[in-house]
Amino acid sequence: MSSYVNCSIEQAQNIADFKGVFILGEQRDGKIGAITFELLTWGRGIADELGCELGCVLLGDEIENMQEVIQRGADKVFFIQDPIFKNFLTQPYSNAITRLVNEEKPEIIIAGATTTGRTVMPLVTAKCHTGLTADCTELTIDPETKLLLQTRPAIGGNIMATIKTPGTRPQMATVRPRSAKQADIDTNRTGEIIVKKYEGSTIMTVEKFLEFIKDTTQAVSIEEADVIIAGGKGMKNAAGFKMIEELAELMGAAVGATRDAVELGWSTYPHQIGLSGKTVSPKLIISAGISGKIQYLAGMQTADVIVAINKDPEAQIFKVADFGIVGDVFEVVPMLIETVKKMKAKA
Ligand SMILES: Cc1cc2nc3c(=O)[nH]c(=O)nc-3n(C[C@H](O)[C@H](O)[C@H](O)COP(=O)(O)OP(=O)(O)OC[C@H]3O[C@@H](n4cnc5c(N)ncnc54)[C@H](O)[C@@H]3O)c2cc1C
Repeated sequence: MSSYVNCSIEQAQNIADFKGVFILGEQRDGKIGAITFELLTWGRGIADELGCELGCVLLGDEIENMQEVIQRGADKVFFIQDPIFKNFLTQPYSNAITRLVNEEKPEIIIAGATTTGRTVMPLVTAKCHTGLTADCTELTIDPETKLLLQTRPAIGGNIMATIKTPGTRPQMATVRPRSAKQADIDTNRTGEIIVKKYEGSTIMTVEKFLEFIKDTTQAVSIEEADVIIAGGKGMKNAAGFKMIEELAELMGAAVGATRDAVELGWSTYPHQIGLSGKTVSPKLIISAGISGKIQYLAGMQTADVIVAINKDPEAQIFKVADFGIVGDVFEVVPMLIETVKKMKAKA
């Protein structure tokens, strides 16, 4: 099912002044993040359809290998450089992006639905008096109106809503990580790196970066994982949930959990999948002892392959599963663990 919503915050803008597509790249410790290369895939496709240039905005102090952004599809890199941009801070980041938008007037801006994108884009949107569609899974151009069609799951994942922003510019959207493949490198591509230096109120802030605390409970974050083993209340207790962790470790997978499993203290919030947790799109997800309530499904139903283990054949999770195992997790999961161990020993 699909529905159309018009975002119409009218204001004094000459829409014809806005040209080109921007993506908001991300860096950490000066290294360009994978989400940037995924956004280049989205951005290049849209820019080609509109027949316009693609710009990549990067904020930082020193950033390695910005040429790769051009080789992967950008025509221009707008590098907003200052020591204040080394780490993400909401005020200077949103101020600087807004200033660049006012100077360059892009028609479309796409960011990742990452912690950075989800935090900064609503601020930029408000400052630019335009609309934002968060968490898109699909972006296309309407062949007739040339508007950006921003599609995302809505109402707990029960419908796909397609949203347009006809009345204001830029049209802004965030897309879920791993919703596109990383753009390929073409070493023959050329482009321009434009360094922007902003001073004064743009870079002033009351915020202070204290420390980056790495989540050491997971080698791979669930948002980036190819394989996720997720457990729910059916794992019965913390000891039962340990089986999920053991299977995940053996398979080199990330551990996912339902909100109930997190609230019971068997796992922690960074592992929570769903409406109030993370959205994941792995190649494979095994959901064990999980009923499949819409709030959980909203965070994982774009996975390529879904395997469900549940003792209740009527469980909702089987409606989205590609492979279903009706059985007791305390029999099935140990069997999987033994099988993987044997396969690894043989290999
Ligand atoms: C606003 C809001 C936001 C929410 N956000 C989230 C969210 O982000 N993520 C999330 O997960 N939930 C979220 N919830 C909660 C959600 O509604 C469910 O309560 C939750 O997903 C259920 O978790 P569960 O599947 O682990 O537990 P249950 O629904 O209790 O399911 C347990 C399942 O385990 C099966 N089972 C039991 N024993 C065994 C066994 N031995 N072998 C095999 N199967 C067994 C049962 O048949 C059952 O299907 C949200 C709720 C609200 C209202």
